Amino acid sequence: MVLDSLTLDIVATMVAALLGAMLLFLGRQENIPALRWWGAAYLLGAVAVALWTLVGNRFGEVVPLLLSAIGLLACATVWNAARVFHGERPHLIGLVLGPMVWIASGMLLDPAAVAPRLTIGAGLVAMYAVLTAGQLWQERRKHLQRRWPALIVPVLHGFALMLPILLGNVLREANGSFAAAWVTIFSIELVLYAVGTVFVIFMLVSERIVSAHKRAASMDPLTGMLNRRGFSEACGRVIAREAQEGRPVTVLIFDIDHFKSINDRFGHAAGDEILKLFAAIVLNNLRISDLSGRIGGEEFAALLPCSLEEGVVAAERVREAFAASGVVCDEGLVDTTVSIGVAGGPAGTELDVLLAAADTVLYKAKRTGRNRVETAAELPLSLSLDRFRRQTAGFAAASQAADPSQA
Ligand code: GH3
Ligand code: MG
Ligand code: MG
Repeated sequence: MVLDSLTLDIVATMVAALLGAMLLFLGRQENIPALRWWGAAYLLGAVAVALWTLVGNRFGEVVPLLLSAIGLLACATVWNAARVFHGERPHLIGLVLGPMVWIASGMLLDPAAVAPRLTIGAGLVAMYAVLTAGQLWQERRKHLQRRWPALIVPVLHGFALMLPILLGNVLREANGSFAAAWVTIFSIELVLYAVGTVFVIFMLVSERIVSAHKRAASMDPLTGMLNRRGFSEACGRVIAREAQEGRPVTVLIFDIDHFKSINDRFGHAAGDEILKLFAAIVLNNLRISDLSGRIGGEEFAALLPCSLEEGVVAAERVREAFAASGVVCDEGLVDTTVSIGVAGGPAGTELDVLLAAADTVLYKAKRTGRNRVETAAELPLSLSLDRFRRQTAGFAAASQAADPSQA
């Protein structure tokens, strides 16, 4: 089958231009700079191929050399798009180095020395392809799996470009029109690479968007801490990990004292500031290996991979730091105190069991004067039993309040 190289060039140009325009548009609309870089790369590639098709070799050596340099610049821009996607800065020297090496070699080498020039050109394209693959493969986000197409597409591109070079002598002996065959293969490969790369780009961008949504769904926007859902998911992982090592786990529940009255006296905005302050105090007074989150309005929790005794020490540290935080308002010092319930269990104890036990003793801390740490002596045998106990305790307290003579 004979493929018309002009038709192939036109198809390659149109595909690249279309994909480029689409990526630029999406990059602007979604405000994703990497997509704009990718779009610019495709448009550069399209311009290079279009001008090549129009002008060809009509203007001697210089114009084709410059046009292929623009093509190389497009490859370098793809690599920089991958850098920008990973939050790195564009590598401007790397961006222009390949095209400059190409122009220099074109000016220095004898125009008749086709094979070495092809080798240098394809080598530079392959180098950018490998750099792109390396960039996309970087395991910066461990949970982003299914990354193999991000590696395979550019590597295949580099390999397809290098193959005729590697087989150059064989092909030349077999067929004199090696260069013509090479141009045809190059055009087909370019279209496949352009489409394949856009597939990879969309895969990466959609992974990024999904993980950003997941992160947002497990974060508390006010304090920047994990919310209840994020906290329990993260705890599940930590408890499983600690269970493998046979290490105990301890849960702390914090409930800020008389927070409603802080809101009532100083306003909701001041209340919010105190919540942020408390979050900072929790983070500063716990270890990096401890997990913490905001599990309700003015309720926070932490999971510590340590014994109950060590957990109590940490809880006391937080309590003292909050009490000593010295928040001052127009009306004077604000009472910032917190009551804390602590419950610990052997390796593998479920989060719900620990939370239930810590919650029970938190209420004890509230009942016995607030601004204190209470420790659970035992874990509930079962959660339903614990709920029943708490309900009956609540019922007894309510009926006692209604009829103090029963006390
Ligand atoms: P106690 O010492 O018994 O815990 O008393 P409390 O006032 O802290 O407890 P209560 O549960 O009665 O009140 C909690 C208050 O927390 C009520 C609610 O308005 C306030 N709150 C919940 N979420 C937020 C928030 O995001 N910002 C602010 N400013 N207040 C909040
Ligand atoms: Mg509360
Ligand atoms: Mg409270």
